[in-house]
Amino acid sequence: MKEQFLGVDVSSYSYEELKQNIIADIEQRRQSFIVAINPEKILQAQEDPNLKNLLNKATYQIPDGVGVLLASKMNRGDISSRVTGIDMLLALCEQASAHDKSVFLYGAKPGVAEKAKDGLLKRYPNLKVAGVLDGYEKDQEHVIQTINEAKPDVLFVALGSPKQEYWIVDHMKDLDVRIFQGVGGSFDVISG
Ligand code: UDP
Repeated sequence: MKEQFLGVDVSSYSYEELKQNIIADIEQRRQSFIVAINPEKILQAQEDPNLKNLLNKATYQIPDGVGVLLASKMNRGDISSRVTGIDMLLALCEQASAHDKSVFLYGAKPGVAEKAKDGLLKRYPNLKVAGVLDGYEKDQEHVIQTINEAKPDVLFVALGSPKQEYWIVDHMKDLDVRIFQGVGGSFDVISG
């Protein structure tokens, strides 16, 4: 269920399929990694083979950008609806609320993830937020330990791109977490 644009994979799952797959991943305790693909990232990946490799390692590459939809249409592909990083984050929070799963917010400047948590709780009052941590904490052991103690089902990583994607791939194996999503500046948007 993938299409390729200049060597970068993009998932062609519908929004509903994505949500169902992700809940199944949590229930079956599979680790998965969601990355948002837009034309800028596809171009960046042309200059940086490591980045291309890393983007292609993700479980789900969501089509975040109308440019990706257009390219799919020109290739007679199936990708017909845009799934932005922030929409995916909100969908995961909705699903987590409905299925009694927890989320953790890691990244952004001190205080921002806390405010984003408040914003999410206004929308989804039953959401379990297992913890929050800012993205400027230098002690990585402390970061890993804090997240593992919180045992979230879903970890949102807001360190900017591609830093967050490298961080996820480097730390997935050390973390007791099922779903990882790189969410860029989403906490800033939700907290504002
Ligand atoms: N950030 C962080 N730690 C860092 C660098 C950046 O937590 O070492 C945060 C920054 O505060 C902001 C987010 O990462 O909240 C990056 O947002 P931006 O919109 O630049 O990311 P993009 O969506 O463009 O990847």
